[in-house]
Amino acid sequence: MADRPDYYKVLGVGKNASEDEIKKAYRKLARRYHPDANPGDRKAEERFKEISQAHDVLSDADKRKAYDRATGPFGTFTQGGGGFDPSAFSGGFGDILSNLFGGAAGGRGQTGSVRGGARQRPARGRDLETEVSLTFDQAVNGAQLPLAVPTSEPCPTCQGTGAKPGTVPRVCPVCEGRGVEAQSQGIFSMSQPCSNCHGNGTVIDDPCPTCHGSGAQRSVRRMRVNIPAGVKDGSRIRLAGKGEPGLRGAEPGDLFVITRVAESSVFKRAGDNLEVEVPLTIPEALQGAIIEVPTLHGRKRLRVPPGTRHGTVQRLRGEGPSRLNGKGRGDIHYRFVLDVPSSLSAEEAEIVDRLSQVMNGNPRARLFDGDKEPAGSAV
Ligand SMILES: [Zn+2]
Ligand SMILES: [Zn+2]
Repeated sequence: MADRPDYYKVLGVGKNASEDEIKKAYRKLARRYHPDANPGDRKAEERFKEISQAHDVLSDADKRKAYDRATGPFGTFTQGGGGFDPSAFSGGFGDILSNLFGGAAGGRGQTGSVRGGARQRPARGRDLETEVSLTFDQAVNGAQLPLAVPTSEPCPTCQGTGAKPGTVPRVCPVCEGRGVEAQSQGIFSMSQPCSNCHGNGTVIDDPCPTCHGSGAQRSVRRMRVNIPAGVKDGSRIRLAGKGEPGLRGAEPGDLFVITRVAESSVFKRAGDNLEVEVPLTIPEALQGAIIEVPTLHGRKRLRVPPGTRHGTVQRLRGEGPSRLNGKGRGDIHYRFVLDVPSSLSAEEAEIVDRLSQVMNGNPRARLFDGDKEPAGSAV
């Protein structure tokens, strides 16, 4: 505490100075130590900052009250006078550890020693995200899977305060617990994370030896999750309330599970549908056939019409995976491909030779005279 400047002394006024006296003292000192009036003078610059901070706090009735309480004869620091709102820092600056509880100042308010002000809002727990690997069948049918989620919990040594047992964090004297500093640049006033407490609103003089002041320890939470039928690779499932616990009874965050689905050698996912490549022999394509194709639950028969071309698609409606929005099931698309042998037996060669003698039209003829007439013109 020794290094905390006494704002009244900084401005050279008494504890009971009026608003007017404070303003006058500030103006006088600010003119004297202004960096423009003292180019290159580091000490003057430091002094100017101190004066500005002191004025910032003492010229605001609320902040002054909080400051008086914090430095008063009873010695305990009351938080919240500055209206510190931990939620303002969720996902905020720098140090991830300091944000583990959605704003460490709020987290440290858990102990009785640092009293939370009425205006402090309890911080909702952080959302967590994790990945889970599924086989193709599990993705199609749904599954219950074990999950290990890296999370954090309050440090058991300091109960999340970050302070060595027997000590308490104190309200940051620079920002008065708000976590932000106002910097005047001519007529503009800009806010930035407090340089003294890095936005936490509190400072710790004796850090907890276990967590080194972060107030948190890493842990792994084990649970079983129900993966709904029909998830795809990259689906994002929200498990409400399964994220990190909230502070002081606040609601927990959510857990988002990203599914990683192994590929099937047979079924390819295409949106809500599946695609299957179905080889046909040349006679089947020519003459037509009744063939069996795989479905998700067994097999079904398809009629292949005579003269089926390579790439033709037939679909079975409603045989695909469940849609995640609960609206029925997708389709399976069967795409016929000609199974062309890379070599022929003597018998096959003989028959194909005979076939080539009777099937002797030239299918490429149209490639050479197709564009001579304008398309669609009547001849
Ligand atoms: Zn600790
Ligand atoms: Zn601060």
